[in-house]
Amino acid sequence: MPDRSGASSGVPVEAPPFPVEPEAMAVLETLWSAGHGAYLVGGGVRDALLGLPVTDWDIATDARPERLLTIFPGSSYQNRFGTVLARGLEITTFRRDHRYADHRRPDAVTFSSDIFEDLARRDLTINAIAWGRRGPEASARLVDPADGQGDLAARLVRAVGDPNRRFDEDALRLLRAVRIAARFDFSLEPMTKAAMIAHAADVAWVSEERVGGEIRRMLAAETPSRAIRLLSDTHILDTVLPELAALPEPVLAGCLDAVDTVAATAPGRERPALAALCCEIRPDAARQVLERLRVGAREVEATVKLVAAARHPYADTWSDADVRRFMSMVPDELRGDLLLLRAARAAAATDPEAVAREEQLRRRVAAEQAAESPLVLADLAIDGRDLQQALGLPEGPIIGTILDRLLADVIAEPALNDRATLLVRASLLLDQPMGQDHARGGAMPPPIR
Ligand code: ATP
Ligand code: MG
Repeated sequence: MPDRSGASSGVPVEAPPFPVEPEAMAVLETLWSAGHGAYLVGGGVRDALLGLPVTDWDIATDARPERLLTIFPGSSYQNRFGTVLARGLEITTFRRDHRYADHRRPDAVTFSSDIFEDLARRDLTINAIAWGRRGPEASARLVDPADGQGDLAARLVRAVGDPNRRFDEDALRLLRAVRIAARFDFSLEPMTKAAMIAHAADVAWVSEERVGGEIRRMLAAETPSRAIRLLSDTHILDTVLPELAALPEPVLAGCLDAVDTVAATAPGRERPALAALCCEIRPDAARQVLERLRVGAREVEATVKLVAAARHPYADTWSDADVRRFMSMVPDELRGDLLLLRAARAAAATDPEAVAREEQLRRRVAAEQAAESPLVLADLAIDGRDLQQALGLPEGPIIGTILDRLLADVIAEPALNDRATLLVRASLLLDQPMGQDHARGGAMPPPIR
């Protein structure tokens, strides 16, 4: 066996059964030669055994956090549980978790010197495989007490130990199990699935941030419907997305079809995937869902706009002005997502004419785009400053209202988008008695024609 270690102990190190980033090997070798046991663990080992590329290696060791800080100059604590960040890698001291008072995180951690204890506290058998050495004198090997490799081969997601206890301890594990099963298209092992159903409602203990994070990762997968179906099968959906859980089955099926189409056409793009997920629920409910998933206020606004425009029914009786009004429902940068979303919904619908209708709308939108039709305030031939200077108007809300009105007219009739024409129309608007009203806060006059 070749000596790849370069470690002072001189004990030959068996090569790992999968490719490992040199930085991670160097950290392991440093720990071994400092007299410690150290292993690669968790998702990295799982992914590597599946033949997938690994970007995040996690390392577990019997060295205590304070000791890690001295072994790795320049390293620092990563969190309050003593995880240390050294040379870009997370190193965690072996631990046993205990006392889960709130179905979420343990109240305390106890460090351990035993890799078996550390693997026993992990969530899924496929996440509880380690590769490394018990100490400087031992040889490197895979440690797999829960037969995670057997479950990888059988394509099963199984809790480590008693599934009921494990999900009762930490309800986040419910979402992790779903996300990981969906990602690899693994099945839920029957006892694990039964425990998940029994504990489904406990997911209410998980913070909105964590739930949102998990759901968004589910949506970023190749086939997001798999995760949503598993959430539905285990009744976790009733708690995390009750609005979706309440949809009649054919509507949910269409929604998930559209989500998958969007994910396949725009891989990894969160906004259209989220919009597709929200397209079959009422817009006010969609807003609540997005807020709960903690996507951020600006993103909520953009996605809600997208959903509203995606649900807007198109008919071939629309005039070109109708097409332009439709286009102005969302800013330019959302238009691609909007058309993608509409095509995905049409493809998911059972109505065979829906796809052709959407295709027609797409062509008409493209024609308006090619004609550079004015659609937003920035496209207007005048701006607020022009209004102030030409009409002697003071600053204030009246400017915005007049611009909005002019834009509506220009969207209906693009030929009006000319500086002189718009200034004349603006002064006409002001001259109308209701226009005066408006300057004092009244309603705008009816359209001028
Ligand atoms: P991913 O590919 O999403 O990173 P991962 O399995 O690596 O998946 P991490 O959140 O990086 O997930 O966690 C690393 C490891 O820590 C997991 O593989 C698992 O062994 C353990 N772990 C993480 N969260 C929990 C939890 N809530 N309960 C028990 N073990 C957990
Ligand atoms: Mg990971």
